[in-house]
Amino acid sequence: MNILIIGSGGREHALAWKIKQSSLCDQIFIAPGNAGTKEVGTNVQIGVNDFDGQKQFCIANQIDLIIVGPEDPLVNGIYDFFATQNEWKGKVFGPSKEGAQLEGSKAYSKIFMEKNNIPTAAYKEFNKDNYQEGVEYIRNHALPIVLKADGLAAGKGVVIAFTLNEALDSFEEMIIHGQFGEASSKVVIEQFLSGIEVSVFVVTDGKSYKIIGHAKDYKRIGEGDTGLNTGGMGCVTPVPFMDAAFMEKVETKIIQPTVNGLNSANINYTGFIFFGLINVDGEPFVIEYNCRMGDPETEVVMPRLKSDLLEILNASFDGTLENIPVNYNADFFTTVVAVSGGYPGDYEKGKIMNIPASENSIIFHAGTKEENDGDILTNGGRVIAVTSEGKSIKEAVATSLETLSKISFEGITYRKDIGYEFE
Ligand code: ATP
Repeated sequence: MNILIIGSGGREHALAWKIKQSSLCDQIFIAPGNAGTKEVGTNVQIGVNDFDGQKQFCIANQIDLIIVGPEDPLVNGIYDFFATQNEWKGKVFGPSKEGAQLEGSKAYSKIFMEKNNIPTAAYKEFNKDNYQEGVEYIRNHALPIVLKADGLAAGKGVVIAFTLNEALDSFEEMIIHGQFGEASSKVVIEQFLSGIEVSVFVVTDGKSYKIIGHAKDYKRIGEGDTGLNTGGMGCVTPVPFMDAAFMEKVETKIIQPTVNGLNSANINYTGFIFFGLINVDGEPFVIEYNCRMGDPETEVVMPRLKSDLLEILNASFDGTLENIPVNYNADFFTTVVAVSGGYPGDYEKGKIMNIPASENSIIFHAGTKEENDGDILTNGGRVIAVTSEGKSIKEAVATSLETLSKISFEGITYRKDIGYEFE
C-alpha cells in the first residue's frame, strides 16, 4: 500500500516510523513532514488543509490510504471532501467533520456525553444571549471553576479560575470581547475535577473499537509540574495505576458508550479517538475527546504497540476490527521532549542542531527542518521527542536523558523528571 500521512510533528514521525515497519506498506509520504520524517519516507510540500493539492498528489502517486495526523484538517472536513471525489478511490483514516466535532466543539462533546451517560464534569453552556445567566451560574458554583471556549483555541481556550474575579473576567473576555473570536462565542462552564490525568487511544470504525495504548503526559514546562502549560514535555506508558480494574471501568463506562453513541447517531467515524481522562479516586471521567492521536503520546504508544498498525487500520475499513489481536511490548516506554529556549513563550527558530545517531533511543523529530542538504535546524517550540524503552519508567527515562545529553542546539531545554512520581 502507498500511504500519505498528513502533518509535520513528532506524532506524524512516530506514525510514519510505525507504518514503515508493516509488510503491507510500500511507499510512504508525509505532507509536509519534517527533517525526521524525511528519513522514513518522502516529504511532500503540501499543506495540511490543502485538500485539492492532496487529492492531485494521491491520484498522481496511487495513494491507497491517507492517515490524518492533526485535528485541523479533520475539523475542516478532510474526510467529507474526499468522500465526494470520484477521481481518487483510496481511503481516509480520520472521522467525518461531524465526528471531529467531538474535539472541535466542547459544547457538542458535552451534549454527546450527557446523551450517552458518559461520566464527565457537570456543566452548562453559555453565549452572548444568556451571558447574565452565566454570570449567576459562576457566582453560584464552587471554586475553582473551569471555563472553556467552545471551539479550537490551540490549547489556550481553557481557564481554571481560582477566584470569582478571575472567573468573571475570563468569562467576559471570552464572550463579550471575543478573546478567541468565533471559538469563544460559546463557553462551557464546568465543575473542576481533581485527580490524575491520563489518556487512552482507540482505533474505531464507529461500531467496534480496539484500544491501541494509553499514556500519561507532562504538560508543564518546569520540573515538578511547575510553570506554564506546553504542548507536552514528555510521556510514559504503561501507567502503573492503569490496571485491569481501572481499564475495565474505562471500557464499560466510557469507550463502549462513546462508540455506541457514534453508531446510534449514524456518525461516520473511522479513525483514532483520544480519550482525555481524569482518575478521580479510581473513577474515570472524560475531560476531553480528541479526534486524533496525541503528541507526544504517539511517540510512546507506537513503540509500545507490537501489532502491525496498518493491519489494524485496514481492519477498521473492512469490518474486521473486532477480530484483530492487539499486542504490546512488555517494557515501559518514555519520551522526553526537548524544546526551544523560551518556549512556551517567545522563542527563536533556525538554530543548528547536532543529533548524533543513537542505538538506545528513537529520536522523533517535531519542529525541525533540513536545509542545505544536511543541516538540521530547529523549526518550532517542541523540537524533538527522545523515546526509550526500559524495565522500569526510571530506567527508560535515564536512557532518554543519556541520549539527550549528546544532542545540542542553542537554548535546548528539557525536563529531567518525567515519570518522577513512579520512582
Ligand atoms: P489541549 O488541546 O491542551 O489538550 P484543550 O484546550 O482541548 O486542551 P481541555 O483538554 O478540555 O482543553 O482542557 C485543558 C486542560 O485543562 C486539561 O488537560 C486539564 O488539565 C484541565 N481541565 C479541563 N477541564 C477540567 C476539569 N473539569 N477539571 C479539572 N481540570 C480540567
